[in-house]
Amino acid sequence: MMQIFMPLNFLGFVYREIKGSLTNIENMFDLLKVNSSVSRNSKSESLTVNQGAITFENVSFGYAKERTILNNLSLNIKAGSKVAIVGPSGSGKSTLTKLLCRFYDVTNGNIQIDGQNIAQVKLDSLREVIAVVPQDTVLFNASIYDNIHYGNLSATKEQVIAASDAANLKTFVESLNDGFETHVGERGLKLSGGEKQRVAIARALLKDSPIMVFDEATSALDSHNEEAIMRTIKKVARHHTAIMIAHRLSTVTDADHIFYLEQGQLVEEGTHQQLLEKEGRYAALWRSQSQ
Ligand code: ADP
Ligand code: MG
Repeated sequence: MMQIFMPLNFLGFVYREIKGSLTNIENMFDLLKVNSSVSRNSKSESLTVNQGAITFENVSFGYAKERTILNNLSLNIKAGSKVAIVGPSGSGKSTLTKLLCRFYDVTNGNIQIDGQNIAQVKLDSLREVIAVVPQDTVLFNASIYDNIHYGNLSATKEQVIAASDAANLKTFVESLNDGFETHVGERGLKLSGGEKQRVAIARALLKDSPIMVFDEATSALDSHNEEAIMRTIKKVARHHTAIMIAHRLSTVTDADHIFYLEQGQLVEEGTHQQLLEKEGRYAALWRSQSQ
């Protein structure tokens, strides 16, 4: 993931330059492409998303040849559903989202969105339809406002403020001398983990894509902020397909469907109730967290 994070600091600089002169904003996105490790086919079609159904079909993947991370994984995410992916740390949850965004290509199998193999569509068109709050939040050294605005460069100021409010940032921003114009520092170091997460959530909410992915996006928040933001996410994602990766199972009990991963394999799936009744791995994890 580093290779896409690195240019973002640089991007912050370029973003300000470009914004100042209102020149070719597309150049900014070109920068991201340079570091992509996946192959591009200039002849490929754009992805067209109607419903946002996602299918992983016999997907295997490893960052290095000698170590398989995802092992023949198949799963179906229904269009418009809110699903959760849970499982122990290191089970491959974040890897799954990286493959969905095609930061890496699968070794075997394929991933489809509305029936289109993501390896065969234009990369930009894929990234356009997915809004991700990654586990390691990426902020670039620019103002809070610009960091949120980056989610959708054609958004109005009102929309940026609305997204910020929806991510519970209002009180925090108002407490700063420079408000929205406060710079977040190199990689967002001037913000706490929870503040960074909320900026990243605001950015994703502003992007408002048909597919939204939240990878442990509220892990650094206190339970009050977490509950408020989970409510917002669910409201905003109402008409979208949303994937919630969660460590604390209590935040995803109302998901339409839950996938339980272990060592890169889908071990159990179902609703919270179904999985509890199964008395398997999920139920055991639930019990261990309920104490
Ligand atoms: P989870 O999100 O479920 O905690 P990850 O998908 O982040 O799990 O990681 C799955 C496995 O892949 C882990 O063993 C992790 O060490 C390994 N891994 C993750 N990212 C990389 C990477 N960039 N290079 C090599 N190994 C990685
Ligand atoms: Mg992870």
